[in-house]
Amino acid sequence: MTSSTVVRLARSPAPVTLSCRMNKITTARSLLCNRSLHTTARVLLASPIQVPPAAAKSANKTTADNPAGIHLWDRLPGEGGKPRRGMAKIRGPLRESRFRLVTDGNKPEVNPRKVNEFDVAIVGGGIIGMATAREILKRFPKMTLAVLEKEREVAAHQTGHNSGVIHAGMYYVPGTTMAYTCVRGNALMYEYCEQHDLPVERCGKLIVATSKDEHPTVEMLYNQGVKNGVQGLEILDSKGIQEKEPNVRGYSALYSPNTGICDYQMVTECMAREVTASGRAEIKLACEALDFKETEDGRVAVTVVEPGQKGPKFDVTARNVITCAGFYADRLAAKAGGDKSLARISTFRGQYYQIKQASTIRGKEGHCPV
Ligand SMILES: Cc1cc2nc3c(=O)[nH]c(=O)nc-3n(C[C@H](O)[C@H](O)[C@H](O)COP(=O)(O)OP(=O)(O)OC[C@H]3O[C@@H](n4cnc5c(N)ncnc54)[C@H](O)[C@@H]3O)c2cc1C
Repeated sequence: MTSSTVVRLARSPAPVTLSCRMNKITTARSLLCNRSLHTTARVLLASPIQVPPAAAKSANKTTADNPAGIHLWDRLPGEGGKPRRGMAKIRGPLRESRFRLVTDGNKPEVNPRKVNEFDVAIVGGGIIGMATAREILKRFPKMTLAVLEKEREVAAHQTGHNSGVIHAGMYYVPGTTMAYTCVRGNALMYEYCEQHDLPVERCGKLIVATSKDEHPTVEMLYNQGVKNGVQGLEILDSKGIQEKEPNVRGYSALYSPNTGICDYQMVTECMAREVTASGRAEIKLACEALDFKETEDGRVAVTVVEPGQKGPKFDVTARNVITCAGFYADRLAAKAGGDKSLARISTFRGQYYQIKQASTIRGKEGHCPV
């Protein structure tokens, strides 16, 4: 699934579109962390925003690769703590008490009278929008920011309804950004969950060739994974499969110990709490972005309305707007002045099956056919 993030610079004629497979928070997070989101950073810096002295002091020297001299962390704040308990028994209760944010009551400290004026507006409160918001707030200590989400809670769409898999990175073509960010993101996602005491389990996964004909795919995924830097991959024969999971039969399988599961809704909610705790950001729920226009002073006005209502409409203005609208990414990109043909969402349907007798399968690892 592809999510497009469109970065619109108030003074630039056309938005910059970054197309990225959203593979967990880590897409935004590790792209930023690993300097792959230079475009965003440059766009942000290209706008007339004052870099606070502290950040300016620690900024890198300008280079051809980094003309803005932006400071990029090798390690994100809070990383590297002691791992805590894994898949805690808190999943149920926490799911029940789903988190909600009111639209007011968390006004930014900076310029409190201009409540709808921000440095950055992010459209979309899924994991991509929230990870982007979190990262921007960390990198730019004086920036104010609004996340505009049309639903009444964050992570209401794909993020809150996905399979919760932390992919290890063997599916992507070696040398691509996807391959790199997936492997790096895998490690960062485990760290994030452990540091914030969110349920996470490194359960591993078996990708099973049910017949000899399918075995070349297992080998291909193994070679691809090794090239991508995925750790611990093993090809198992049918006996090896039985040892890992007695109730799975197959000709061969790729065993990936670093594939795991987490709850992306809880991850996004946790990020949302970090975002609001900054005191410089608001998450505006039930705010659907309808339209984007440039104001006379070179800002972007995003016209918002409560979904399903004819009004009242109001404008949230920002120097930069980033759209992270998931399945609506192409539509929003077009509304924001982007070229419709550049971003197109292709949807596909998946099916989930439930095993009736859970006891017949040990079920520690995830299993899937090649
Ligand atoms: C069935 C399924 C299973 C998946 N399984 C996995 C998996 O196991 N592992 C994995 O890594 N990935 C998985 N994915 C992919 C992953 O869930 C998505 O890539 C990811 O959640 C995308 O996040 P997002 O923030 O871009 O989009 P979303 O979570 O869809 O968020 C977009 C947000 O934008 C808001 N929005 C849209 N338009 C507007 C507007 N005009 N104004 C205001 N707000 C707006 C929406 O309300 C929504 O909240 C799966 C996806 C699906 C569909």
